[in-house]
Amino acid sequence: MSTSPGFAGKAFIVAAIGTLSTAWLMHEAPTQSADVSLHASDDIPAHATRDRASTPPAAQAAQAASAVPPAAPAYRVETAQVTHSFSEAASKLGIDAATAAQLARALAGRIDFRRDLHPGSEVRFVFRNDAQADANAQAGTQGNAQTNAQLNTQTGAATAASTTATADEDLPLAVRISTGKTSHDLFLYRNLDGKAFYYGADGQSNAPSFARYPLDYTRVSSSFSPHRLDPVTHRWAAHDGVDLAAPAGTPVHATARGTVTFAGWETGYGRVIKIKNSGDYSTTFAHLSRFAKSLRAGAQVREGQVIGYVGSTGWATGPHLHYEVHVDHVPKNPLTVALPKRSGMSAEEKEHFAEQVAQFEPLL
Ligand SMILES: [Zn+2]
Repeated sequence: MSTSPGFAGKAFIVAAIGTLSTAWLMHEAPTQSADVSLHASDDIPAHATRDRASTPPAAQAAQAASAVPPAAPAYRVETAQVTHSFSEAASKLGIDAATAAQLARALAGRIDFRRDLHPGSEVRFVFRNDAQADANAQAGTQGNAQTNAQLNTQTGAATAASTTATADEDLPLAVRISTGKTSHDLFLYRNLDGKAFYYGADGQSNAPSFARYPLDYTRVSSSFSPHRLDPVTHRWAAHDGVDLAAPAGTPVHATARGTVTFAGWETGYGRVIKIKNSGDYSTTFAHLSRFAKSLRAGAQVREGQVIGYVGSTGWATGPHLHYEVHVDHVPKNPLTVALPKRSGMSAEEKEHFAEQVAQFEPLL
């Protein structure tokens, strides 16, 4: 936070006054109008970092200082108390269910919406004011036309981006969830196609990646199925996972980061590890010959970490891993279930995004 240009900008206000006129001259026409502040145009998708990069730090501070507060604020901040759930609190502020789910996914792994949110928790959203958005859209069309044309090799791409942005311009620009003990922030970022993403202030997506397979297996020896004849008990029962055959001793890897909730012996499963992953996901690894050293309930694991080794403990006819993926406590087919994805930003996008954070974080 201490590296945020926004805060630095405040500190430089006095020093920057002398260079103010210089900073203005270094910029092009659209910033002349007092009611179209630099702030209001900063979240245009293809905003030029070129300007910032070629501008000395003191002049950057002058830009921040010279952003004359418009007659109508460009942004509004709204707060809602959490009484039942995050999505309910969000809906009070006009956030639709799909957006609430997107925000929840972006926070997966940092906050457990069932455990950490309770009455008294609070959500804050920064929205763009509509009137300002209209003015901003016009200014953006003029002011960023050149930049858009450069970043998108054809003007058609720039048009598509702004159309998409207009269609869902009510998306919150920044979000803070305060649980009383801690708070978590998310910031909207649009890629050049105008597609919306939410990231933490560090620009890292919180949604962890999730590997499809926990080991190098030779074949699927038994597939996921709601009904199958159990080869050991000879009774029809659901097979809640997939059996991946592999030689005894083959390392088994955690498929996503998480917390070990159980590592021990269970009837049928033999030596089994259960891991609570991010969001609603949990994973189970059964019939292991042994556990990795220091693996016990409560341990944190990374994606790819070796947690145990293939065996045939419990009800198993030969060495294989019985692997389960549960989503919201419902077993899903591990080979086909939709897994959380991480989408990274390029270095240039990260630079854009850092400007967004510097702008909106102080409003939260
Ligand atoms: Zn099995």
